[in-house]
Amino acid sequence: MKKNLLLTLALAVMMPLGAQEIVKGSIEDVPRQGSYQPTFKSDGAKKKPLNIILMIGDGTGLAQIASGYFANNHELTVMNLKHMGFVTTRSATDFTTDSSASGTAYACGIKTYNYAVGVDQEKKPAPNIPEVVAKKGVVSGVVSTDALDGATPASFFAHQPNRGMADEIWADLPASELIFFAAGDKERFEKRPEATQKAVKESFTVVDNLNDPAYAKASRLGYLPTKVEAGYIVDGRTDFLPKSTRYAMDFLKDHSARKRGFFLMVEGARIDKAAHANQFESMVKEMLDFDKAIAEAIRFADEDGNTLVIISADHETGALSIADGNPAEGKVSGTYVSTWHTAIPVPIFAYGPHAQDFMGCQGNDEVGRKIMNLLTGK
Ligand SMILES: [Zn+2]
Repeated sequence: MKKNLLLTLALAVMMPLGAQEIVKGSIEDVPRQGSYQPTFKSDGAKKKPLNIILMIGDGTGLAQIASGYFANNHELTVMNLKHMGFVTTRSATDFTTDSSASGTAYACGIKTYNYAVGVDQEKKPAPNIPEVVAKKGVVSGVVSTDALDGATPASFFAHQPNRGMADEIWADLPASELIFFAAGDKERFEKRPEATQKAVKESFTVVDNLNDPAYAKASRLGYLPTKVEAGYIVDGRTDFLPKSTRYAMDFLKDHSARKRGFFLMVEGARIDKAAHANQFESMVKEMLDFDKAIAEAIRFADEDGNTLVIISADHETGALSIADGNPAEGKVSGTYVSTWHTAIPVPIFAYGPHAQDFMGCQGNDEVGRKIMNLLTGK
């Protein structure tokens, strides 16, 4: 208990609440990237989706999306979608949520306290989507540009009272229902206790690249790229997120026994991290990269016809506003009013069968419960 309290205090110091000076940032001459134009053939269909992909842009409010949209001259795949709504994100204990309470709301369909990972307000494990849908034979995976023990991915496989308990979170991985993960990073994993590393390697084929075709046949696969390959775009990350997203969808579809379906969570984690640091240019680059992963998911949904893609956020970060720009020149300027999260509702977009279920305003916990119900046939 004492350890948990210390971790909570340490995190509170790391993430101070409250207002700060206005920080301005801008980006220009952004190289254009195309968007994927959906066919809309399965969009809004009444049949139950076989597969669901939940894409969480950490800290990604409307201004973060719009910054990428304007910088790329009015073009993003997510902005090509038609079914949209809003998500309110407050946690059980705080008006402004952190990523673990919101991650747990999405993963477990419950409101809990800030810093909780897959546990309820009494610190009891709450069943997460991969556990609930596994009973129906549905397989699951996660992809993130954060560490695998980061609050959002951890909410989908771990049950720990505090997000800072990295060793305990990694130790929950072997007994989880995940059969695929791709997240940062190899160096971080190698710092875990020997017994934890051994247990993870005994239950997953752990690799640091996806090049060998034999990996696709592993029963459970864990991809841990290097720190740089899973780090910020501005520090040298290339195509880790869109590439791992595509790989995960193919891997899970291939491993879905008798076509029972799959669940995949994809997180664009560094939109939030760049916004915490009020690094506008870095944030826009992370947003554009997240949209590449969204394009992969929407393209897959069109190829497959039975896949629902949901794109939302755990909360907004930075109280970002946009005051100036020139889309034709790939130029946009933003101002941050905070270095922490805000309670502003975040947009949600959906594409595929039952996309219409996610229109309107809803809690993040409701989104989690809707996913569970759709995948278990309720
Ligand atoms: Zn954050």
